[in-house]
Amino acid sequence: MEARTLTTRLDPVELLQALIRNACVNDGQRESGQEVRNADALEAYLGTSGIETERFEAAPGRVSLVARIEGSQPDAPALCLMGHTDVVPVNPSGWDRDLFGGELIDGEVWGRGAVDMLNLTATMAVAFRELARTGFRPRGDVIFFAVADEESGSSYGAQWIATHHWDAIGADFVLTEGGGLHGGTAQAPIVTVSVAEKGVSWRRLQVRGEPGHGSMPYRTNNALVKAAAVVMRLADYAPRARLHEFWGSHVAALDVDDDAKRVLLDAGALDDALAQMENAGLARHLHACSHTTFSCNVIAGGVKTNVIPDRVDLEVDVRMLPGEDEDAVGRHLRDALGDLADDVEIDTLFAHLPSTSPVNTRLWDSIERAVAKHFASTRLAPILHMGFTDARVFRERGSVAYGAGLFDATLASGDFARRFHGNNERIDVESLRLTTDFWLDVVRDFDSHIST
Ligand SMILES: [Zn+2]
Repeated sequence: MEARTLTTRLDPVELLQALIRNACVNDGQRESGQEVRNADALEAYLGTSGIETERFEAAPGRVSLVARIEGSQPDAPALCLMGHTDVVPVNPSGWDRDLFGGELIDGEVWGRGAVDMLNLTATMAVAFRELARTGFRPRGDVIFFAVADEESGSSYGAQWIATHHWDAIGADFVLTEGGGLHGGTAQAPIVTVSVAEKGVSWRRLQVRGEPGHGSMPYRTNNALVKAAAVVMRLADYAPRARLHEFWGSHVAALDVDDDAKRVLLDAGALDDALAQMENAGLARHLHACSHTTFSCNVIAGGVKTNVIPDRVDLEVDVRMLPGEDEDAVGRHLRDALGDLADDVEIDTLFAHLPSTSPVNTRLWDSIERAVAKHFASTRLAPILHMGFTDARVFRERGSVAYGAGLFDATLASGDFARRFHGNNERIDVESLRLTTDFWLDVVRDFDSHIST
């Protein structure tokens, strides 16, 4: 048995199934997630090849794992493969299969986390173990970082470890989630690499009024009525599109004809084109990619049916484009609220700036070669990621971080996007195989281009 585990490259399917079944659901509470279960599974898996791991526990059960293949040259760049081990909560209605069954059905592994991002975490672990098993001796350190709490802002994961144990995870280059999908046209196929993320600013707007009796509403200062107006102003607020540096390659990645692309690349015509676009899902995606957005998502206020409320709290999810900051968000909100701004007190609940990594790097070149090995005529397209990932934690500290991977060419990016935090999350076995190969190719290529 020993000989078998030491000579065969374990299939990522089995490992992914184990990670899904552990159901490390992160609902934002400190005691949720319990990523210790996936840390244990990965530790056991890597341990079969004698790989030593280090554990970091930011709160009880919130365990992250680090493994390292030490480089022979202390000044050579370190490369980290980072995968999160938590998953988002899931509502069983709308699912056709067991949410945490990890079932393999018709060549696809089903379950929460199958695309975000246990698929990548599992394939990273398989590739890392394969490197160690085959005696790979890199020049720079190669690190595998299986991290907790990505889905709720990283305070029990990457953020915490970066603050308290940067030495354990610090790397010049980082690969994580957000890319690897095919797009473009048959003549100009591309694979996406996420090189930037929008910033986030979660704001609470306290709308003030004056209390009174619900039997006499005339000429009162009702905070709820005012909050309704605030919501409508934010919903109607439409700052113009801004075509940032990644917009061009984002458009190139679309499977639409050249005329449609020309319109999308015209800042003056873009907003009208989005408004008229038949495919609302695509319009929503392209709008987010070209605008700072404001989404009113939580409202709380009022005490009793017969009491006019004097305070209503509104929570707004703001996502800012590269080049903007908290001050810019404040200006947007004032513009949106107009004369209502004076009656609203705004504070920030959670925020981080947009982050970007350059594309002219040695890691970029390695990714290009690794993709070309399987898809010869395919080019890389650098894209802006709408959500946030732990890449930002590394970019803030000067690392180059990309969201990458390599999926099967028949996996449509729209289908993939719908499974993200969505129903019927699943991944095909071919994509798991390709991505495993991709990590191996990138790590080996990256190292082979470091001069001795
Ligand atoms: Zn994720």
